[in-house]
Order: sequence, then structure tokens, then C-alpha cells
Amino acid sequence: MGEIITRFPPSPTGYLHVGGARTALFNWLYARKTGGTFILRIEDTDLERSTEASVQAIFDGLEWLGIDWDQGPFYQTQRFDLYKEVIAKLLEEGHAYWCTCTPEEIEEMRETARANGEKPKYNGKCRERHLGPTEGAVVRFKVPLAGATAFEDMVKGRISIPNAELDDFIIQRSDGSPTYNLAVAVDDLTMKVNTILRGDDHVNNTPKQILILQAMGETVPTYGHVPMVLGSDKARLSKRHGATSVTEYRDMGILPDAMINYLARLGWSCGDQEFFTREDLIEKFNPDHIGRSPGVFDQEKLLAINHDHIQQKPAEEITEALLPYLEKAGIQVADRDQLVKAVKTLAPRSHTLVEMAENARFYFEGIKEYDPKMAKKAFKPAAVDALLAMKEALAAVDEFTESHLEAPFHAVMEKLEVGFGKVAQPLRLAVSGTGASPGMYEMLEVLGKEETLKRIDDAVAHIRALG
Ligand code: GLU
Ligand code: ZN
Repeated sequence: MGEIITRFPPSPTGYLHVGGARTALFNWLYARKTGGTFILRIEDTDLERSTEASVQAIFDGLEWLGIDWDQGPFYQTQRFDLYKEVIAKLLEEGHAYWCTCTPEEIEEMRETARANGEKPKYNGKCRERHLGPTEGAVVRFKVPLAGATAFEDMVKGRISIPNAELDDFIIQRSDGSPTYNLAVAVDDLTMKVNTILRGDDHVNNTPKQILILQAMGETVPTYGHVPMVLGSDKARLSKRHGATSVTEYRDMGILPDAMINYLARLGWSCGDQEFFTREDLIEKFNPDHIGRSPGVFDQEKLLAINHDHIQQKPAEEITEALLPYLEKAGIQVADRDQLVKAVKTLAPRSHTLVEMAENARFYFEGIKEYDPKMAKKAFKPAAVDALLAMKEALAAVDEFTESHLEAPFHAVMEKLEVGFGKVAQPLRLAVSGTGASPGMYEMLEVLGKEETLKRIDDAVAHIRALG
């Protein structure tokens, strides 16, 4: 085939939906894997539903996912002259004709067909009338009466539609604008697209687009129709299942690499592998392994994958990704190195960056309130002795790093003749405010000596004040 040329042609009538993002991803991965070209095309011919804000939302979504394009964005509304030229040529060569039938006449044809037990469709009345352009006339494509239009779908296998089942469909509306199928066929041809992966909601359009391409004497691209993404109840994924816009997942604190990992696996597989880095996906993606059954969107699974990516990536990279979420949570961090260390302690217990930012709060903001349930257990009067002994032992540590912080605990346990819990519980609550914090020694290292001692003092004062 030579160079693989794929495209993503969203209609800008809303945000970037997870289904659309997956389609974009498959086409992008295939182009990147093969060293081909990925084209972005904005299908904005529906002037009433297309908005500038949606175009921007689509750019934002793609940019966040790290899906970049080699050509475009092309806008169909800027290509009307080209579509007109093609329509004129199809008319001239007898592949299309003018039709002046009124909506009432068309309705009548449909009813007659229905009454005869046939598929309701336009009956070809104007096909041989050789009409010219008149006010209100449309242009119809002359579908061959016999034979079938067939293609080898990369996902579904061979698909063959008898031409007799197809309408002489409209390619130019009465207002002179091209229809969707005409514009897509012309664009795919002129942009030299040779591989089309798209949702199987378009499978019925494919024979029409193929017929137009064949009428223009052109070779037809390879198509692969991907089953729709479903919600947990097996209905097509929609808002009532939860977030469907990719940027909502960004706002929830999903990493773009986790999102593309999850989206890729939603309909494509590579053996039993679940975790893929971006490079992995590019290396291993193969449209032959797109599944025939629809993927079911499962937010829990996405969170689990995100958790894996948070753990696998270098802490420095997660720190960078975390910054906007900290800012949004109003958490100010002065010391970047300290933040990287904090991230290392939080990564194993965070499913999203939003959660991680929240979990990081105690490091940087001090304790506003001790978890009341924990305090009941851990802040008994006897805890004061343990805390003060720990303060003394920790104050004597010169190098305040994880590996040097275990010994003082053992010294205090021996001195007070108590177990680890009696010392660690009040201390954990004193420095973190909760019972569920990162590992003790790593946490203390992140806090640093001065802050740790100060928090112990505060806790002691708090317990004494309780009486
Ligand atoms: N503009 C179409 C859509 O958003 C895409 C059509 C195609 O992939 O050919 O559904
Ligand atoms: Zn007609």
C-alpha cells in the first residue's frame, strides 16, 4: 500500500467524546506505528450544529491526549468549491442527475414501497429525465441498478450490499450544499487517505462513499468499522453512564497516558497485556486485533490503569503533572524537591491526580484537624509520654532520612517498654492528622526534622488541652 494515511474527521457539534477519542487514537497509532500520516479534518458542514467552541474542545481533548496531527486541520466549509466541481463532473459524466421531486412526492414513493413490502426509498423518477439545474432541485447519485458494492472490512470481514438496496442518494441539497457522504468521499480522495478506522455507526455510509469514489475512477481506501463503546448496561455509552467527555477525565486527574492505554484496550488487544506505555502502544498497535464485540466502558478499570501509570512513571514526571491539580486545590508548594519526595510516598496510594493532590495537602499545609475517630484511640493522655520521647529521639537524628529514622523508634519502644503501635499511632496522627498516611519513615523524611518536631509539640499541646 505504501505510506499509511489515516484521518480523524470529527463533526464539531460537542466536546470530544470517549468514543471519538478512541477512533482518533486508533488512526493516530496506526499512522505513528507505520511512519505514516495522520490528518485532522473538521466536518463542519452542518452549520446549525457546528460551533467554534466545539472545534476548540476537540483540539483541547486531542492535545491533552497527546494525539498530534501531521496535516490540517482542514475545514469542510472551506472546501465547498471543490465539492461543487466534483458534483459538476459527476453530473457531466452521467453519474449523477438533477431531481425536482417534492418532499410530498418522495413521501408518496416511500409509502408505495412500504405497501409493496419493499424498503422505502426514492424510486428513480428523475433518473432518466435529464433535467437541468432549477430552483430547489437536488442532485442525486446514480446508483448502479444491478450488482453489489462490497469491501473487505478490517474488523468485520467482507461486507457486500446489493446495489438494489441503495437509494439514489442526494449528493447536493437544494440550497447547493454538499451532503456528508459526498464531502467525505471527496476529502478522503483528495487527501489521499487510504486507511479509515471509524465507528460502525458509519458502516451504512461506506457503500455510498465507495460508489462515489468508483464513479470518480479512484481506488477505494481500506475500511475498518469499530464497534461502538457501550455503558455498563450494554447500551451505547451516553451521559447517563457518567462522564463521556475526555476532558472530564483530565479534570478527574487521569493521566493522558493512562487514558490512551484504557481507550486502546477498549476494543483492541495484544495478548493478555493490559498495561501499555505510549511507546508500547505505538509499537504494538495493529488494526487486525481490533475486536468484533463492543467494548464496555468501565470507570473502575480506568482508575486502576491510572493507578498503575502513576506508580510506573518517574516521580519527576508525576510531579509536573500534579502541579495544576495542586493549584486547583489551593495547595502551595515552595520546595520542588520536597514535592517530588512527597509524590514518591503518595504514588502507591493514589488513583487520580486529584486524589494525590488531596493526599499531599497535609505535607504542605500543616494539620487543621485531627481525624476525630483516630484521635479518640491514639490521643489518650499516655500518648504524651510516647510523643515526647519520640521528639527527643528524633531531635538527636542528624541525617533526617528514611534509613536513619527506624532506630529512634526502637530506642523509644525499648525505653518505654511498649510496642510499635503505641509509639507510631500517636505520632502518625500528630504529623499527618489521619490514620491513613504514607509509610512512617518516608513520611517523616518528607516533612523534615523541624516540621516533625513542631507537629509533635502541637499534638502534645492538643492532648494536654483535652485534659
Ligand atoms: N464526521 C463523522 C463523525 O463525526 C466522521 C465520519 C468518518 O469517520 O468518516 O461521526
Ligand atoms: Zn426526482
